[in-house]
Amino acid sequence: MFKIKDIKIYNIGLPLRQTIHMSNITIERSNSILVRVKSSDGDFGWGEAAASLSMTGESSVGMIQAINYMKEILVGVEIQSYESISNLVQTSIYGNAAAKSSIEAALIDLFARTQKKSFSEIIGKIKRSDLPIIWRIAGSENEIEEAKKKRDEGFKAFKIKVGAKTIKEDLQRAERLRVALGNEVQLTADGNAGYNRKSALLFCSLIDKAGLDYMEQPVNGYDIKTMKACNELMSTALSADEGIHSLEDLSIHKDMNAAEGASLKLIKFGSIKNLLGAIDFMKDNNMHVNISGKAGDSSISAACIGHISKVVNKLDWFSNVSIQYLADDIILNPMSIRDGKLMINPGLGLGVEVDEEKIEKYAI
Ligand SMILES: [Mg+2]
Repeated sequence: MFKIKDIKIYNIGLPLRQTIHMSNITIERSNSILVRVKSSDGDFGWGEAAASLSMTGESSVGMIQAINYMKEILVGVEIQSYESISNLVQTSIYGNAAAKSSIEAALIDLFARTQKKSFSEIIGKIKRSDLPIIWRIAGSENEIEEAKKKRDEGFKAFKIKVGAKTIKEDLQRAERLRVALGNEVQLTADGNAGYNRKSALLFCSLIDKAGLDYMEQPVNGYDIKTMKACNELMSTALSADEGIHSLEDLSIHKDMNAAEGASLKLIKFGSIKNLLGAIDFMKDNNMHVNISGKAGDSSISAACIGHISKVVNKLDWFSNVSIQYLADDIILNPMSIRDGKLMINPGLGLGVEVDEEKIEKYAI
């Protein structure tokens, strides 16, 4: 139990180790909004949400506006339970899922600390402690050697970013990677909504020989008809990502046979309850589940994904975090990735101790 005393907003951009090449997007630096909630007892909770006009439609400027609007409603409120956090945040503003998710995470982090519990213990029942994550293969010159090294380190799942090269080249990359990595790993390709209908149909008609476990979102998230047509062309499973912002989106994809699984992001669902509910729907409907952050997220978001991953009812397509691709992070007790698995810091709440000097350094 605590009273919300203050909410502080930070706009940051972290440097990446390497430029990320996706279908039609190149990312050189992250852009996230961080939220710090302070209680009247002087305790803090942290949350993060990536700004992404291409993914959520929410810019950093817009998120700051939205959080300032919510702040007017939230400051002074007494928090009694996890349920009250969820209801309060969801009813404080219409839309603005990413902005909401950052405040909700910060409040849960703070609430968990006051309850002397971890974030995962507050949001659900712990189902797993091992959290294998996916290694992203995004077009570096020595990507095959790099991927083999990661497999030898213990990574069991790999995702190839496709669309920046020709279809022929990308299919060759996939085939070569499958040969190099062997059949024991989960190997997938992600089009990041970059193909038009014609190219997507061509790609998907040729994909089965590449030996991938699934193909993700070849076309724009709105184009569910082409997703269905792609799915009919291949026996490789199809995953939706950019097309999924809610339970309704999942239901439509299921009904239309436009995806067998999906990659879910908290910044799109806006609340942990919505995300967990969507995963229950997917489990009931035999859909495969991946939980993912946004490229460039810091350890605050990675910790949040890790804690959510511990409690979800299904996670057969694993989780994605991005801290391994950052050139610098903003926490004092860095989280590690060991044997291809995310190691969440023990401790209360999210288990992260934020380095406010670093936040200042990377302020935008
Ligand atoms: Mg994706």
